[in-house]
Amino acid sequence: MIIYGTNGSHVRTVAAPALACPACANPGQLSLSVFSRYAHIYWVPLVPYAKPAVAQCLHCKGAWTLKELPPEATNIREDLQTLKKQTMAPWWHWSGLVVLLLLAAWGLWASGRDQKENAAYLAAPQVGDIYTVRENDSAGEYSLLKVVRTQGNTVELVANEYAIDNAHPLDKLNDPAKYSKESFSLSQLDLRVMQQKG
Ligand SMILES: [Zn+2]
Repeated sequence: MIIYGTNGSHVRTVAAPALACPACANPGQLSLSVFSRYAHIYWVPLVPYAKPAVAQCLHCKGAWTLKELPPEATNIREDLQTLKKQTMAPWWHWSGLVVLLLLAAWGLWASGRDQKENAAYLAAPQVGDIYTVRENDSAGEYSLLKVVRTQGNTVELVANEYAIDNAHPLDKLNDPAKYSKESFSLSQLDLRVMQQKG
């Protein structure tokens, strides 16, 4: 189960000494506040999506969002709108998204590195190298080929006689007794074609 939802936090509050309260009309009692709402996954803030702004009176405890302000309170509305525009969501409201982007970048880098390593192994086969191979497609089964001899552009291999249904058969199948006694040959070109076909 993925736990997600929304939350918010206070960002800033400024005093508004020049403004009078729309309810009790006392001057110098208003403060203007901006909050930031954000979406979270497992309580890690992912991305901010709204900035509610509120005017509050210290004297009569009245509070108004932009929509709730009476029409004649134009000065308060303008000041509140200006403060909202000038207020950014705190950086940590983006922290989940930053983590996801870093993970994606790391994944790209790691898979690029694996591909380079695989290409290097296939370009210079050595006795004892083991290749993971996908068995006839649809079954989604994987097995191993082991290099037993190399000669020029030709590689002599023995096939593992077992297959398992995940892409990491090395741990379970790499037992000398599980390999065929009969070897067969492939060219390095064959190997590269096999790699390109996945
Ligand atoms: Zn008031």
